[in-house]
This record gives sequence, C-alpha cells and structure tokens, in this order.
Amino acid sequence: MAVRLGRTLRKCARPLRKCARRSAALALDLILPRVCLACSAPAQRELSLCLDCRRLLEPPRHALAAGDRLEGCDAFFWLWAYRPPLDQVILGLKHRRLEYLGRHIAAEAVNALGMELGRAELIVPMPMHWRRRLVRGRNHAESIARPLAAKLGRPRRAALRRRTLGRPQVGRSRRQRLANPTVMFHCSRPAQVRDRVVLLVDDVVTTGATATRAARCLRAAGAAEVIVFTPARTLG
Ligand SMILES: [Zn+2]
Repeated sequence: MAVRLGRTLRKCARPLRKCARRSAALALDLILPRVCLACSAPAQRELSLCLDCRRLLEPPRHALAAGDRLEGCDAFFWLWAYRPPLDQVILGLKHRRLEYLGRHIAAEAVNALGMELGRAELIVPMPMHWRRRLVRGRNHAESIARPLAAKLGRPRRAALRRRTLGRPQVGRSRRQRLANPTVMFHCSRPAQVRDRVVLLVDDVVTTGATATRAARCLRAAGAAEVIVFTPARTLG
C-alpha cells in the first residue's frame, strides 16, 4: 500500500518538476539572454544557435543518407554534417558541460526521425572508457540517450562496456584515425539486449569503426537488430 502511494505521489510530482524546470529556464533566459555558441549573436533556445547559424546546419541529402551504411549495423541515421557551427554545439556538450544541449538534440532527433528511431525497443548509449569518464565526469552520449529514451518512451540501459581506451577521433587526420587502436567492447547485460531492436546512440560518428564494433558486440549478445543514431557525422 505504502509503495503504491509512493509511486502515485512520484507520478503526480513529475509534471510539477517539469513545469518548475521550464519556469526556471525561462527566468534564466530573461536575466541572462543566450548567445549563439558559434558567433555570439542572440541565440534561439534550441541548440543555442542564432537563426543564421541554425540555417547553416547541413542535413543529409536523401541519396547520401540512404547510401551511408555502417558495417555490422542494420540502419544508420544522422542529423547533420559535423562542421561549423555544429562543432560548437557538440563541443559545448562535451567540454563545456552544457547538458541541456543533449535534450535539444534529442528533440530534434524525434522531430526528424521519430518513425525510424521509434522502432527501437531499447536505447543503449555508446559507452566511454571508465578512465575517460573519471576525467570528464560524465558520458556525453548518455546526455543524448537519456532524453531520447524518455521522448521515445523506451528503456535505456548501459549494456555495453568499453574495454580499451582508444583516442578521440574527431579533429584527427584520416591516417591518424586509421592508426587509432581498435576499440573493444563487452556486453555486460546480454539478457537485456537479447531479441530486441537496439538503438545505439553516439555523439559523433567519424570512420564508423567504433560504432561497427559496438554494434557487432550487441549482435553477438543476441540483439535482433542494431540501429545507430548520431547527431553529427563527419564527411570526406
Ligand atoms: Zn550564430
């Protein structure tokens, strides 16, 4: 009885908390208006970019998106090419701890790809090696995966572990990226992924080698399908 009452109270408090968060964000916007992450002009709320920079975000052309496949994955979806001004959004999320950008990216993903991503039964963030996580304090793929799971109404599980550290791929030359040691994964919760359509979420996909390894690990653990989503894709 007490447990049920606790659950009901928590359920009722959720919309109130959401409303309080929104009011606090609006008040903060009034006191400290947002500036564009890329050019310092007044910014829109979404992605913290001004209108001009927002227009520069380059969505995948249909033919490119259709032909952009990752080995070992059943489907691959991305929102924009990783180039200015998108790089500032991703860097804001990664290095400036602007956690709210994860929620904005998740909202954009659901608007653009709701049908495709909605097939997933389980959301799994791309894991970060524990040593890197210790330094950074959090996993930025998780910052996107958490609100995305909430918006899609699907469970989220940290089902993968990264066994090798590797080096960040973004900003490196093709030769450096190819020379990067292979990242290895381990599925720590195979029962959770077995026979399910898994949505693997990463912040940036460069060569796709890491996503391929992670997807293969999930398939080896029994996942029925692995869909990969990233907001940012490096091209060329
Ligand atoms: Zn701007």
